[in-house]
Amino acid sequence: LMQLSLPLGVIGFVYSEVRQALANIEQMFDLLDMDAEIEDAPGAKELMVASGAISFKDVHFAYDKARPILKGVSFDVPAGHTIAVVGPSGAGKSTISRLLYRFYDVQAGSVSIDGQDVRTVTQKSLRAAIGMVPQDTVLFNETIAYNIRYGRPSATQEDVERAAEIAQVDHFIHSLPEGYKSMVGERGLKLSGGEKQRVAIARTILKSPPILILDEATSALDTHTEQEIQAALDEVSKNRTTLIIAHRLSTVINADEIIVLKDGRIAERGRHAELLDQNGLYARMWNRQREATEVEEHLTKVRAED
Ligand code: ATP
Repeated sequence: LMQLSLPLGVIGFVYSEVRQALANIEQMFDLLDMDAEIEDAPGAKELMVASGAISFKDVHFAYDKARPILKGVSFDVPAGHTIAVVGPSGAGKSTISRLLYRFYDVQAGSVSIDGQDVRTVTQKSLRAAIGMVPQDTVLFNETIAYNIRYGRPSATQEDVERAAEIAQVDHFIHSLPEGYKSMVGERGLKLSGGEKQRVAIARTILKSPPILILDEATSALDTHTEQEIQAALDEVSKNRTTLIIAHRLSTVINADEIIVLKDGRIAERGRHAELLDQNGLYARMWNRQREATEVEEHLTKVRAED
């Protein structure tokens, strides 16, 4: 057994080291603005953000030509508005955020910000204008203050703490043995999905971009955490053009418009109440999710009574 367990332990260690190295490389690419496939067009200009309005016009996209993901998607996010994209798993919701950030180029149609096609501007200026709160934030093996300050390296400790407050992660940080100096990441404290997402929100608050993409975590969060994240998001999305990629429906109720994607096309669009009235796909998704939440709450109650 000894013979077996030692190599396994070593493998586990190597695996976690490699995983962290990959995570850091990913962030390094982000830092250096390097990208394997996408390059700046010759003579690309800086993106000039006037109000931060986003426009998708008849966008067609496939990762693999044999399997189209988006088949003519058009929508506008007026400056300062919040639009939520919902739809079944695999419908192409996160793909929309990747096209806006220009991780990939559209095959037909266009994605533009304040009238400038994202393919004509420098990636550096594009990505400086967009704050991305991803599904799963990877934290550096560094202090929690460092991880928040990454949004704006010149930020003071006071700025960092103010951003943490707005992101509703300050109570959690104060509960840590070394507060803002606590080490996090693979080799430090492990944060829950909800805590990591709030660190990412604090980072984005410091970056203060005119455009915000929130790719919501797929994993279920408890109601309390969800409410805290919701409050943090309401703060950060105020007066910013916001695109929410919603995997749960609770965050979309207040969106200015909800876009329901299905089979690569927009199947329904409108505000929450309008879509419920239509009694279509959105209404069915909503009812299913509500039932699931009710069952979950019932089970929690039963377990608590045991
Ligand atoms: P979910 O709610 O499950 O996260 P989604 O609607 O956000 O789903 P996307 O992540 O946009 O879905 O993916 C849309 C489709 O594209 C999926 O079928 C997925 O398997 C495929 N896909 C995503 N990323 C890639 C990639 N890098 N290469 C090839 N196919 C991909």
